[in-house]
Amino acid sequence: MQGLGIRDSGFVLAAFGALSIACAQTASSTGSTTPADAKKFLDTVNETTLKLGVAQAQAGWVQQTYITDDTEAIAARASQAANEAGARFAKESTKYDKVDVPADQRRMLNLLKTSLVLATPSDPKESDELSKIMARLESAYGKGKWCPDPSKPDTCKNIDDVTRILAVPGNEKVLRETWEGWHTISPPMKKDYARFVELSNKGARALGFADTGAMWRSKYDMPPDEFTKELDRLWDQVRPLYLKLHAYTRAKLHEKYGDGVPASGPIPAHLLGNVWAQDWSNIYPLVAPPNADPGFNLTDILKKRKMPPLDMVRSGERFYTSLGFAALPKTFWERSLFVRPKDREVVCHASAWDVDFVEDVRVKMCIEQTAEDFTTIHHELGHNFYQRAYKDLPVLFRDSANDGFHEAIGDTIALSVTPEYLVRIKLLDKAPDPSRDLGLLMTRALEKISFLPFGLLVDQWRWKVFSGEIKPEQYNKAWWDLRLKYQGVAPPSARGEDFFDPGAKYHVPDNTPYTRYFLAHILQFQFHRSLSKIAGCTLPLNRCSTYESAEAGKRLEAMLAMGQSRPWPEALDTLTGSRQMDATAIVDYFAPLSTWLDEQLKGTQIGW
Ligand SMILES: [Zn+2]
Repeated sequence: MQGLGIRDSGFVLAAFGALSIACAQTASSTGSTTPADAKKFLDTVNETTLKLGVAQAQAGWVQQTYITDDTEAIAARASQAANEAGARFAKESTKYDKVDVPADQRRMLNLLKTSLVLATPSDPKESDELSKIMARLESAYGKGKWCPDPSKPDTCKNIDDVTRILAVPGNEKVLRETWEGWHTISPPMKKDYARFVELSNKGARALGFADTGAMWRSKYDMPPDEFTKELDRLWDQVRPLYLKLHAYTRAKLHEKYGDGVPASGPIPAHLLGNVWAQDWSNIYPLVAPPNADPGFNLTDILKKRKMPPLDMVRSGERFYTSLGFAALPKTFWERSLFVRPKDREVVCHASAWDVDFVEDVRVKMCIEQTAEDFTTIHHELGHNFYQRAYKDLPVLFRDSANDGFHEAIGDTIALSVTPEYLVRIKLLDKAPDPSRDLGLLMTRALEKISFLPFGLLVDQWRWKVFSGEIKPEQYNKAWWDLRLKYQGVAPPSARGEDFFDPGAKYHVPDNTPYTRYFLAHILQFQFHRSLSKIAGCTLPLNRCSTYESAEAGKRLEAMLAMGQSRPWPEALDTLTGSRQMDATAIVDYFAPLSTWLDEQLKGTQIGW
């Protein structure tokens, strides 16, 4: 699920970390600025950021939980105000490039320069146009429906319906039509998207970045090129495991669907149980290792017990309080949105909010009784507990060490949702025998390993779109080239440039950077390995749960409370004792599955 996951609202102004920035700005005036001026500037920025950020979060919350033309307009105005202030602060911060200021003020000034996801052009007309385009793109996705028979509105399918249909393997024709149907929501976005790219690049250039993609890559406490190399290094660590999973899955799909799935070559994208082929959990029945059934199904348990959504959220909260975190505030329970309302349009995509940047944390999701949503709840709450851990820092430091950290925390906790944990919280009577681990590992691999190449390629596409290397007339071809290269998947039918398939993925029209999800997938296993060790777990990694470990909770909270006040390698070091991201924790976690796959794949072609 989690790639799905998630947008962290309320952070638009808060910066995302970066020390050494290859920024082209030069100080517009250095002669008269003093350390006292810098201090005063930063005080104003912290205060204004808070004020506009709260207004934006409030307007955004209302818009996403009650989509109308008016709430769209209100949210667009609030975003515009926040974005304009952010752009202004980013520019002004360069005035203090040569002023001698204390280290934490220097960090704030640097963060300001790299804080924006979207830089608005300085021309008010263009800035206004950009805000409207953004609101339109987001709503186009939120209201997106595929209507197989437009004369019968009840047959229209929203993303939830589409997700449900694609989750059931078997009928190739239905899967293909549904996949193609969902992808009809995005062609109307293409023109807006191309204009958005032009306008946002204008804003980024005014800040001294080559383009919006270069701006995004400058946030990682290292030069952008070095960061790109880090991603390559991490992908190389896990790619062999992905190739094995891909080859085994392809062989099983070939058995199921015949020549519709080639014995070698890419896998058709609509047959992997998910609209974007980013999570293959749903096709588990087709690839399940024999005799590895764990003997329980969490979705069935939740449904059988008719567990109310609120109780599912309470369960998630209890995990965090068992580690020593304070319980969520009363307002969380009063103000969150947990179920899809019947009377209005909402953006159901799960997200975690920090509306006042202090205590007013919320979750917005349309919970169903599924194992996936149970996990998503743990994920979203991870954001909320992170947000609260850093609430006492200056406003500009209230964010995660880098943006992958925010996404990783909840997932780290979800890795602790082991059978033994389910027994301890009384959802399960008895944990299965360890000999059944292969089934659980396969389930998790279908969710986590299958995600990695998708997590990488979304921004590979966008970075090239922003840089102009991919032009509007090649948007779709370039998208599918990358999906082939990284995921080894192909579309079920020809996809010309009259389609705009990237737009059928939430994070593209919503303009949420995606590399964070890739990093989060790497980091969560690294965190889990460290926390398990701290908790004293000597079992194989996949059987460790940190539930009720005060020691693990203490180390986790120490890292979370740092927010982004220090470069991310220091935060990583606080928890793991290492300053480098390391994907070998994934290889460790899945070692038994990897060995088993080697045996199954003897004599089989790997790759495409
Ligand atoms: Zn998230």
